[in-house]
Amino acid sequence: ADLAMYRAKSAHSKEPCFYDAHMDDAVRERRELIADLRHALDADAFELYYQVQSSIPSGEICGYEALIRWNHPVRGMIPPARFIPLAEKSGDIVPLSNWVLRRACHEAAGWADPQPVSVNLSPMHLAEKQLVETVRSALADSGLPPERLTLELTESAIIHDKHFALEQLKALKAMGIAIALDDFGVGYSSLEVLRSFPFDRIKLDASFVSEIEHDEQAVSILRSVAALGATLNMPVLAEGVEEPAQLAIVTREGCAAVQGYLIGRPSRMLADPDHVRRVASLRPRIVEAEAVA
Ligand code: C2E
Ligand code: MG
Ligand code: MG
Ligand code: MG
Repeated sequence: ADLAMYRAKSAHSKEPCFYDAHMDDAVRERRELIADLRHALDADAFELYYQVQSSIPSGEICGYEALIRWNHPVRGMIPPARFIPLAEKSGDIVPLSNWVLRRACHEAAGWADPQPVSVNLSPMHLAEKQLVETVRSALADSGLPPERLTLELTESAIIHDKHFALEQLKALKAMGIAIALDDFGVGYSSLEVLRSFPFDRIKLDASFVSEIEHDEQAVSILRSVAALGATLNMPVLAEGVEEPAQLAIVTREGCAAVQGYLIGRPSRMLADPDHVRRVASLRPRIVEAEAVA
């Protein structure tokens, strides 16, 4: 019945319906998801989960990344990798990103822990002229100080219109917001992007960490990127750390911070100010990782 209501509201969908019989399931599913997306915001169907980021070797929490979740009335929890690309194609990403930004700022403003919140920005959003104003009003309305907001961008956000992207990033940084380069290493123009853009930190993609215990090449790359980041004054966070042995290696090779299931899974509980305080320090896990190494 929930879905029927959703769909009834989607009746103005632009695409003609008479192709239905010819569409395979994947195409139909995508189309249905796009139609449902349009109403999910009004239906309050999105939530933000938060995942901790920790400094190494101290183990102190140094931030929380906001990760969107869609609780679909019929399909259950849908991961962002499924619907963000659809929202980017359909144009719904901009209202969606605005919602994420406002919600993350609002929730973080209520936390007992004053560490920054990281928000992922889609490439399309960076190309929006209104972005700077949107960010400014999200901060003003929530009362979150700009120093407590970090925006995460991938290289693909920058390559479309480099000149405008740089202008936007400078305006955001001038407000006091930090900018992180997300998923570093899997894009096309990594070094060029590092040379020209004023990132505050680099997040090394999880694919460089996932096999690191068994892969000397991956260790060499991690070591070089950590050194490069340190030289450029862009501390490197290793993404996707799941194993104590991986934590030991990224610590030994000079990464500045980590994020991953080993430290903590994305969780709704962290949105609640009372729960943030309960998150244990990473320190005992680092000691454990050192023992493994
Ligand atoms: P991302 O920004 O690189 O976020 C990290 C992803 O890695 C998250 O997946 C997180 O749950 C997952 N992850 C963290 N630690 C581990 C680990 O130890 N092992 C493994 N296997 N995975 C780990 P999630 O939440 O499914 O998000 C996927 C991507 O969707 C994000 O990648 C980001 O690009 C995008 N995304 C998420 N939320 C938003 C949002 O609010 N706006 C936009 N534009 N994109 C978002
Ligand atoms: Mg991210
Ligand atoms: Mg990433
Ligand atoms: Mg990613």
